[in-house]
Amino acid sequence: MTTIDTSVQHAIEDAAKLLRRSNHAVALSGAGLSAESGIPTYRGTGGIWTRFGEPTIDGWELFASDPKAWWEEAIAHGASEFSVAIERSEPNAGHIAMAQLEEMGRLAHTITQNIDNLHRRAGSRRLTEIHGNRYLVRCMNCGARERLETVSLDRLPPLCCECGGILKNDIVMFGEPIPDDALRESYKQAGASDLFLSVGTSAVVYPAADFPLMAKRRGSPLIEVNPEETALSEFADVIVRAPAGVALPAIVELLAQEL
Ligand code: NAD
Repeated sequence: MTTIDTSVQHAIEDAAKLLRRSNHAVALSGAGLSAESGIPTYRGTGGIWTRFGEPTIDGWELFASDPKAWWEEAIAHGASEFSVAIERSEPNAGHIAMAQLEEMGRLAHTITQNIDNLHRRAGSRRLTEIHGNRYLVRCMNCGARERLETVSLDRLPPLCCECGGILKNDIVMFGEPIPDDALRESYKQAGASDLFLSVGTSAVVYPAADFPLMAKRRGSPLIEVNPEETALSEFADVIVRAPAGVALPAIVELLAQEL
């Protein structure tokens, strides 16, 4: 059993109180939520970029200039250490707690920056994957998404079965615009929220980092769940300085006591 220190326990109780009072709580989750599933973060202690530096930011440019060459390179390159970690991962206690909050009617929507599919696998249904999902492909013309495993890669680039447009993986690349549907839903949810939870994100990637700030500007309290200080910490009303896999189940437990 994990021991929770007193200041963290107080913050957990404050977070549960805010969730109890709210009618439309919205969460933004990031790589830190999946860290306890064995998927490395980019930033923060132990993050891939913290250890090895930031990669070049030309993914979208490369895809847009030659989709066929991009697909050939992706297939030839095979699985990276990062994608192997995702393939092996399972939803952790934090993902499960977020799905439970949704089920209990305490969490209206989750906007995730994660591409690992773990929220869906944990049972979250009111979900916007603003940076895409690595198990899907998306049509550059009509925006339709299909499961990557159902797409034939015999002819490259693969084409959309709806409109014949070029398919790319659904992950939003550096420099690529966020798909309209995901962006619209995220702004709609942030605009409707009366409480905002930021979980496991360094909150430096825009536009995602704008949603908690937008909610805050509208008067919604902000809860941060992150073991480290972030760009959002100074705006947070409640800060739970603990791993998501510890903090979120403890919040669920408090809320479940009154059901
Ligand atoms: P980030 O890597 O910039 O920051 C991770 C944050 O998580 C840090 O603030 C760190 O302190 C915190 N953290 C670490 N362990 C935690 C834990 N157990 N519980 C709670 N918080 C913890 O992540 P970001 O803000 O999501 O932005 C990075 C971008 O990288 C996103 O666009 C995302 O798409 C992508 N990414 C996704 C994955 C994934 O799908 N699992 C993994 C790495 C990066």
